[in-house]
Amino acid sequence: MFPAEFDYFRATTVDEALALLDANPEAELLAGGHSLLPTMKLGLASPPAVVDISGIDALSGVEVDGEVARVGALTRYVTLADDAALERASPAVTAAAAAIGDVQVRNRGTIGGNLAHADPASDLPAAVLASDATLVLVGPDGERTVPADDFFLAIFTTAKEEGELLARVELPVLGEESVGVYVKKPSPSSGYAVVGVAAVLGFEDGVVTNARVAANGAFDHATRLPGTEDALVDESLDDGVIETAAAAAMDGLDESALMADHHVSADYRAELLRAYTARALTQAAERADTPVAAD
Ligand SMILES: Cc1cc2nc3c(=O)[nH]c(=O)nc-3n(C[C@H](O)[C@H](O)[C@H](O)COP(=O)(O)OP(=O)(O)OC[C@H]3O[C@@H](n4cnc5c(N)ncnc54)[C@H](O)[C@@H]3O)c2cc1C
Repeated sequence: MFPAEFDYFRATTVDEALALLDANPEAELLAGGHSLLPTMKLGLASPPAVVDISGIDALSGVEVDGEVARVGALTRYVTLADDAALERASPAVTAAAAAIGDVQVRNRGTIGGNLAHADPASDLPAAVLASDATLVLVGPDGERTVPADDFFLAIFTTAKEEGELLARVELPVLGEESVGVYVKKPSPSSGYAVVGVAAVLGFEDGVVTNARVAANGAFDHATRLPGTEDALVDESLDDGVIETAAAAAMDGLDESALMADHHVSADYRAELLRAYTARALTQAAERADTPVAAD
C-alpha cells in the first residue's frame, strides 16, 4: 500500500523543526516511523507534509544524575532497554521498553513517538505515569513541562499542542528502597499490550510508603489505578495485600470506559487488569528484597 502524496522535510535542529511546523501546521513529525508510516500506508492519516526529526542528535540519549534521568525524545527502545544506569533509576520504563513489539520495532521506535502517539495499547505510557515522569515540550514560546498525570487525555490525544514537539522525558531517580516493574499480556499477533501494568513502589522497613500503579490497554488512554494504590500504602506487600490491591484495580474508575475489541471483551479486560496488577505487585514484592538503587 502507498501513502497519499506529501511533502518531506528533514530537520537537523530543534529550531529548524519548529520553523517547519510553523510553516506547515498540518505536518506530522517523523521519529521512528513505526506508527506514522503504517497509518499513512493504510490511508488512516494523510498529512500534507512530514517533518523528519530522526536526525536531530540533541533529542537523543540518556543522562542520569543524582535525582533525575533525562531521556531525549528520540531515544530508541533498544537504547532504553540496554541502559544499566536508567534501569537502576527508572526500572519500570526500561522494562516496558524491553517488552515492546519485536526486535525491529525496538530498533526503530522512540520514546517520544510512543508517548506522543498515545496509542492505548502502547507500553510506555503506563510506565511513565507510574514513574511520575515529567514531559518537556518545546514550541514557539520555548519549553514547558507537563506531568505525565496530565499528558494522556484520550485515544491518540495528549496535552501536546499544535506547533510543539516533545523534547525529552524527565524521570525521578528511584530511592534505595523503591522498586519499579512492568508486566503485560501481549497481543499474540502484534505484541501490543492487551493489558499492561506498571507499578513503582517506595518502602520503609518493608512497609509501602508510596505507590503509583498505572495500566495500558484497559481504557482509551493510560490510567492510574487509585483503588490499588490506596490499598497498598501503609501495608507490607504480602499475598493477602497483593490480592486485595489487585481486586481494587477498578475502584474509582468507570467500568463503562473499559475497552472492548475483537481481542478481548470489556469483562475479560477487567479480569486481565486484576490478574496483571497482581503479577506486577508480586514481581515488585520479589524485587523489594533487592532494591534497584542499592549497587
Ligand atoms: C509491528 C508493530 C508492533 C508494535 N508493537 C508495539 C508494542 O508492543 N508496544 C508499543 O508500545 N508499541 C508498539 N508498536 C508501536 C511502536 O512502538 C511505535 O514506534 C510507536 O508507537 C511510535 O514511535 P515512533 O518513534 O515510531 O513514532 P512515529 O511513528 O515516527 O510517530 C508517531 C506519532 O508521534 C508523533 N511524534 C513522534 N515523535 C514526536 C515528538 N518527539 N514530539 C511530538 N510528536 C512526535 C508523530 O508526529 C506521529 O503522529 C508497534 C509497531 C509495529 C509496527
